[in-house]
Amino acid sequence: MPKQTIRDLDPNGRKVLVRVDFNVPLAPDGAVSDDRRIRAALPTLQDVLDRGGALVLVSHLGRPSGKPEEDAPFRLDRVAARLGDLLGRAVTKVDDTVGPGAQAACAALKPGGVVLLENVRFNPGEKKGDPKFAGQLAALAEMYVNDAFGTCHRDEASMVAVPECFPPERRAIGFLVEKELQILDRLLGHPRTPMVAIMGGAKVSDKIGVIENLLPKIDRLLIGGAMTYTFLKAQGHETGRSRVEADKLDEARRLLDLAGPKLVLPPDHLVAGAVDPTAETRVIVGWDLPEETFGLDIGPATVTAYGEIIRNAGTVIWNGPMGKFEDEPFRKGTLGVAESMAGSSAVTVVGGGETAEAVEQFGFADAMTHVSTGGGAFLESLEGKAFNSLRVIPDGPG
Ligand code: ADP
Ligand code: MG
Repeated sequence: MPKQTIRDLDPNGRKVLVRVDFNVPLAPDGAVSDDRRIRAALPTLQDVLDRGGALVLVSHLGRPSGKPEEDAPFRLDRVAARLGDLLGRAVTKVDDTVGPGAQAACAALKPGGVVLLENVRFNPGEKKGDPKFAGQLAALAEMYVNDAFGTCHRDEASMVAVPECFPPERRAIGFLVEKELQILDRLLGHPRTPMVAIMGGAKVSDKIGVIENLLPKIDRLLIGGAMTYTFLKAQGHETGRSRVEADKLDEARRLLDLAGPKLVLPPDHLVAGAVDPTAETRVIVGWDLPEETFGLDIGPATVTAYGEIIRNAGTVIWNGPMGKFEDEPFRKGTLGVAESMAGSSAVTVVGGGETAEAVEQFGFADAMTHVSTGGGAFLESLEGKAFNSLRVIPDGPG
């Protein structure tokens, strides 16, 4: 059943607390280095303003320690400036979240006005889901909208206890959360077939739940990244010095049995003698790597084989880079998969922190059907988990 959305609320003349996820990557000098998550919230924010509402925005940024002398880099001033540029109007950034500054700024809010509160995680009550803190936050506005998809798997105060302070008819999801849920519903409910999943990244252990939940729904599971070597080791192959999760070999064997011929391991590998972009690389065909080498990317034959499967798919869902793509020499596998997906007529969905970053960096984000703004939230959704942050939003009128 779809959730009540911002369309079901009347923000005219009201203050609307929107929980956004402005947890953006920062450059070493503190500048916003990627504003994708800010841009993704704009349709909801613009809609409230267009319909005569005012905005009280709540976000976290990073993992502050709670000690003011250490937490300066996690202040939201740079985020506020970028948001103001994107919205084309003044954003009042206050230096507290529920204190006198926040109260005064929200009391003075007029229709069309925008207040951004300070990093909600500066308050210990946020992580704890503290009802008293939640009540203070909720008192700043008259309606609640959750447009923070990247945080939906968290039970923090601003995600669960705050909406519970509002009458059910004044709680809704925003356009971004709605879009993410629609895509997930399509992927898990009625995908265009053949459905292909591509899984890579650092560790099998992070993705066991996802693989298990997806297996019955998919036709192919293409493996890449470091998790390849845990699977190969589990099959008794030689993996050299590649990253292997030695305590997950039994789990890997269980998944291999469960998946049968659906699961495809890369038929060739790019290896190097050191995890170092200046090290000499070579391609190894087959499933045994020389001793003393590290498997750092899928090989060219794998890029071609996976590309062919991606081109003939109805739906492709991708999480986890194919190699250590941060270093240029180990990037071709991840680039190749991104390129094949961008050129495929399939429904293409990308999720996961590093994977989304890679696709963005390579310039293929706009060529995908959808690049999720959720890392953990995207993966937990694929695992089939339900979120408390969404349970507290009522179903829509139909
Ligand atoms: P995501 O954030 O998209 O879910 P993960 O966090 O699972 O992805 O994994 C991303 C990381 O995995 C990247 O930083 C990448 O460098 C690393 N990685 C992928 N393949 C390898 C490999 N063969 N050896 C070492 N690291 C790898
Ligand atoms: Mg990651």
